[in-house]
Parts: sequence; structure tokens; C-alpha cells
Amino acid sequence: MSELLQSLRRRIRTQGPLTIADFMAEALLNPQHGYYRRADPFGRDGDFITAPEISQIFGELIGFWVIEMWQVLGSPAQASLVELGPGRGTLMTDALRAAKVVPEFLEAISVHLVETSPVLRKAQKNQLSDYSPTWHDSVATLPDMPNFIIANEFFDALPIHQFRYTDVGWREVLVGLGNEELDLMISPRETPHVALIDDVITRNAKIGDVTEVCPAAISLFELLASGIIKNGGAALVIDYGSEFEEPKATLQGFQGHQPKNFLDSPGEVDISAHLDFSALKRAAPPGICSWGPIAQRDFLLSMGIEVRASRLTEFATDKEKVIIDSACNRLLSPSEMGTLFKVLAVTFGDKEQPSLPPGFVK
Ligand code: SAH
Repeated sequence: MSELLQSLRRRIRTQGPLTIADFMAEALLNPQHGYYRRADPFGRDGDFITAPEISQIFGELIGFWVIEMWQVLGSPAQASLVELGPGRGTLMTDALRAAKVVPEFLEAISVHLVETSPVLRKAQKNQLSDYSPTWHDSVATLPDMPNFIIANEFFDALPIHQFRYTDVGWREVLVGLGNEELDLMISPRETPHVALIDDVITRNAKIGDVTEVCPAAISLFELLASGIIKNGGAALVIDYGSEFEEPKATLQGFQGHQPKNFLDSPGEVDISAHLDFSALKRAAPPGICSWGPIAQRDFLLSMGIEVRASRLTEFATDKEKVIIDSACNRLLSPSEMGTLFKVLAVTFGDKEQPSLPPGFVK
């Protein structure tokens, strides 16, 4: 039995059942044994593959998005390009390479990476040493200047709370012990995060339904938004999820590209949940505009993925052309990532002065 599993069992035995959020935080971020602290989970040999690892075009188009937003803001002479959870640093590398066409942008920005994993920080350092990035444990220490923030598949890894609808209302799903094994159970009492469940979800709930809330996503989003109100800047959040209108259990474990019970082998299994974009939009304070979410497919098409792909194929061998085509298909196809993944933009200003961010124009 792994040390993390032993320590979780000890903790539950002495302190009682954990919320799923506490369990997730331990399984993913425990300093010694957490999933994201130990290894590089990406790619064919890992547990999952993300859009920037599928095609360089993804990061390049996001680079162009950031440059346009920087220009809309009057090309501030000092700004930061921030990525939350940069993984191997692939997206940032591609974005910065694309940005070479606008040298003034590269001169103006400093690169900031919010990353907790030492293994992934090392990978990021190898890729991005030319740009002397600064690493942060959390968004709380980001610089006091216009921040242009990118988050691809970051919010889905934040700890969620789960609730089941019962004849006495929502009750939290907890991780306890059944026959000494980790097991799910229902809290006998109401717990504080029930308050975050939106009324529309409760109106649509039947006994037995399960719903989720992610207070960590909401407070992080509020912090980013208040920075944008204060200093200007913008954010682009890309993730799988939707605007939740009815109860849904989306928490899932993944290992070796296969679904896996999220309670199994804590620290060795990726655990994530769909992002509720409505909850983020509700958290946007006045002075901030949120746009979308729109399907990743529509965003990438509007940003010119097809033009960029055909430019790349001009110089490609036949074998490379097939690879480029299949990568674009993976990013765009509704049966792959095209519609499951959504894009939300956050900009400075209010709806009375709308200036549609790039990619959000059809
Ligand atoms: N954006 C990358 C990686 C997504 S995986 C890509 O698209 O390929 C999630 C990333 O977020 C990893 O880099 C992981 O180490 C990081 N991460 C997860 N939880 C975090 C947290 N609470 N704080 C900072 N980084 C976190």
C-alpha cells in the first residue's frame, strides 16, 4: 500500500471522513506523493494528452490572441504573460515563438508561470530558459501590472466538492472508510459549501442526483479579475466543461488514457472534473467582461487555424501533412476536443463598451 494511501486512511480514522476537495488536494498536490508533484503525466506514454501537446498551432494561436489583447490595451510597455499550470511549457514556447513577429511585444513582457510541480517546473525551465521566467506557487504573487493570463486545462485540476440530492436537500459526498478501504459516503449534516450550489441546479434536481462546486476555481477567478480591474490585462480560460444547468457528476480518474476510479491508488491517478463556466461568470465582478464560453472549435477556426495549418503543410512532407491534418482534426472535431472544450475570455471594461476579443468573432 502506498504511503499516501496509508496516511489518508490514518487521517480518516482519526479525524473522520474527508471532503472530496480535501481528498483531491492530497491526491494531486501532496508535497511528496501528489500526482502533480511526482511525475510528468503528459503524452502518449503518460495518462493524458493536452491540446498544446497535440499541435504547435494551438499555442501559436494563443500567442496571437495575447498580442492582439495587448495591442487593444494600448501596448503597455511593461506587462506580464502568465500561464497557470503550464505543464511541459509547450504552449508557452509555441506562443512566444509566434510572438517573434511582434518584437515590441516580446520586449514589453516578462513571463510568469504558476506551477506547483517541481518535475514540471524543471521541464518548463528547459524549454523557456531564453525568456527567464519567474515561477509562482499561486496567483497571489503575480506582478502588479497588466497580466495577460492563459489557463489551459488548469481549472479542471482544482479540488471540487460533490453533493447528492436527498429528501432533506443537498448532502456532501465524503471520502471515508468501508472495510478499511477508501469509500464514498454521504454527510449526515449540511456542510458549508452547499451555499455555492446555484438555484437553477437545485430546481432541476431529483433525489439521487449529484452536483459539484469548485470554490478554489471561484476564488482564483475572483483574484485574477480584481488584478485585471486594477491594472488592465486579460485572461483566456480553456477547459472541458460547460455552463452547468442541471446536476451532473463529472469527477473522473484517468490513468494511461483510460478512465479509472478516482479513489484508486491516490497519487498515481489523474483526477479532474468538468469546469462549470457559469460559476466563473457569476464570480466576475463589475468592471470585468466575460465572453463565451464558446466551443474550442469555433475559437480556433476564428483565430485562423486553417490558414496556419495550410501554411505549415506548404513546407511539409506527405507524412508530416497527415500528422498536421490529424492534429487539427483532433482539436476541432466535435467527436474529439472540438466542442467538449470551451474557451472563456475575460477582459477589462464593462458591457457598455464592448470590444469583442479576438477569436470570439464568428
Ligand atoms: N496547461 C498544460 C498542463 C495542464 S495539466 C497543458 O495544456 O498541457 C495541469 C497543470 O497544472 C500541471 O502543470 C500541474 O502541475 C498544474 N497544477 C495543478 N494544480 C495546480 C495548483 N493548484 N497550482 C498550480 N499548478 C497546478
